[in-house]
Amino acid sequence: MKIGVLAYQGSFEEHALQTKRAGGSVDVVPVKTTKDIAKIDGVIIPGGESTTIGMLASKLGLMDELRDQINSGLPVLGTCAGAIILAKEAVDSKVKKQQELLKAMDVSVVRNYYGRQRESFEADVDLSEIGGEKSRVVFIRSPAITKVWGNAKSLSKLNGVTIMAQEGGMLATTFHPELSNTLAVHKYFLSLVKK
Ligand code: GLN
Repeated sequence: MKIGVLAYQGSFEEHALQTKRAGGSVDVVPVKTTKDIAKIDGVIIPGGESTTIGMLASKLGLMDELRDQINSGLPVLGTCAGAIILAKEAVDSKVKKQQELLKAMDVSVVRNYYGRQRESFEADVDLSEIGGEKSRVVFIRSPAITKVWGNAKSLSKLNGVTIMAQEGGMLATTFHPELSNTLAVHKYFLSLVKK
């Protein structure tokens, strides 16, 4: 099995390590251009700055290619900025900035929901819906999933706000599972890839 991780910015190494820990004999490759996603079984869009990731991917033609592949069933895990890029709708909590989205998942996100960088925090979250335990995870200038409709469903909430959602082969978390001890999110994602 081969998993691609978008490698413009954000935690490529950590996602690669976590994916391997979760899946044993999984190959993880960096994805930067359209040719990198030709032969992968699943793709991870990591955190970072969603406007920058979207702009770079768009310039390199990767947004259109990703959209096509995801529409034809390529499983995708989007974490933090990656969750924003997957969403059908994204609003900035302060500025209304135009940004590139895949518009793939029936969710609406609010960027920087919890405030600025220094308001980043750790919390114990419930991962029972995906076969995990209560786990300590980190939220870094995270968005919130404020609306879930259609075929998407909320898989976990923190203080009433959705922090993980799924629609078919698409999985989004507003926290960073690659920077946490739990393997539950990566294991669950690999199970979607195997389906
Ligand atoms: N604040 C970033 C954004 O809005 C996301 C932060 C992250 O990915 N850790 O794009």
